[in-house]
Amino acid sequence: MSSANPYFDDIRTKPEVIDPPQDDDMMDVSESVSDPARNGGKPNVAVSSSVHELLECPVCLNAMYPPIHQCSNGHTLCSGCKPRVHNRCPTCRHELGNIRCLALEKVAASLELPCKYQTFGCVGIYPYYSKLKHESQCVYRPYNCPYAGSECTVIGDIPFLVAHLKDDHKVDMHNGSTFNHRYVKSNPQEVENATWMLTVFSCFGQYFCLHFEAFQLGMAPVYIAFLRFMGDDNEAKNYSYSLEVGGNGRKMVWQGVPRSIRDSHRKVRDSFDGLIIQRNMALFFSGGDRKELKLRVTGRIWKEQ
Ligand SMILES: [Zn+2]
Ligand SMILES: [Zn+2]
Ligand SMILES: [Zn+2]
Ligand SMILES: [Zn+2]
Repeated sequence: MSSANPYFDDIRTKPEVIDPPQDDDMMDVSESVSDPARNGGKPNVAVSSSVHELLECPVCLNAMYPPIHQCSNGHTLCSGCKPRVHNRCPTCRHELGNIRCLALEKVAASLELPCKYQTFGCVGIYPYYSKLKHESQCVYRPYNCPYAGSECTVIGDIPFLVAHLKDDHKVDMHNGSTFNHRYVKSNPQEVENATWMLTVFSCFGQYFCLHFEAFQLGMAPVYIAFLRFMGDDNEAKNYSYSLEVGGNGRKMVWQGVPRSIRDSHRKVRDSFDGLIIQRNMALFFSGGDRKELKLRVTGRIWKEQ
C-alpha cells in the first residue's frame, strides 16, 4: 500500500522526522483514512472505531468536540484540557500555541456512530456532534440504583436493578397496589438524615420504590414519605399514588405522582414532593409516651386513564 500511494508515503515520512515515537500511530491514521475512499466514502465499523480513537483526547480520554486544538507537531487535545496543560503539549512538551485542528473537526462531522447504550438495546446511529446530546436523553441509558441509604454505584436496566435491590440490598418486595407499612425507631431524636429500608412494589407490570426518611427542614426535624417509579418520567406520569398517616383521631393524606428514579431520592426529598410529617406530629401519631416513633403509613398506587 505504501508504494502504491505516494500521498500516504508523504504523510508518513513527515512525523518520522519530527516525532519518531508517533510513527506507528500515524501509519494507523493513514490506513484508516484511506479505507472510506476505497469503499466509495461509505464508512464501516472498523474505520469508525479507529477514527473514534483519533478523536479521543490523550489527556482526559473523552471524545473531543470543536474546538479541537493541536500543537505545532500535530498532537491533538480537547478544549477542556487545553487550559490545564499550561501551554505545553502533553505528548511532546512543545509549546502549544493556539492552533485549531480543523481537519479532525471536519472528519468528526462526517462520522456517524452508534449510541453508546447499544448494549442496553439502543439501535440509534447519530452524527458525531449530536451523539452526546442523544446519549444524555437516550431512553436506553441505564438507571442508577435507587437505593437511598448508601452510595451504591450500580447501574443497569430495570429488571437488573430489581434483582440487584432484592439480592444485594435485601429490600422488601411487595406485590400489589395497596400497602400498609410501619416505620419504627426506638430513639426518634437520633434520626437526622436517617433513611429506612426501601420497599419495592410490583403492580401494573411496573416497579415502584417507597421511600421514608428523616431530615431537617430548616430548623424543624421532619419525616418524608414518597414514591418513585422505576422507569422514565413520561411513563411515571401515567400513575398516581396516595399516602395516609395518622393516629389519635387525626390523619394526614398526600396524593401525588411518582417521580422517576432518574431523579435522585435526594432531589425528590429536597423538592418536598411527598408526604411531610413534622416530628412532633409523627410522635403524636405514634401514641404512647412520645419516646418512640411508630408510624403506620398506608397507601395506594393507581393508573391514570
Ligand atoms: Zn481532554
Ligand atoms: Zn505535541
Ligand atoms: Zn441511544
Ligand atoms: Zn444498589
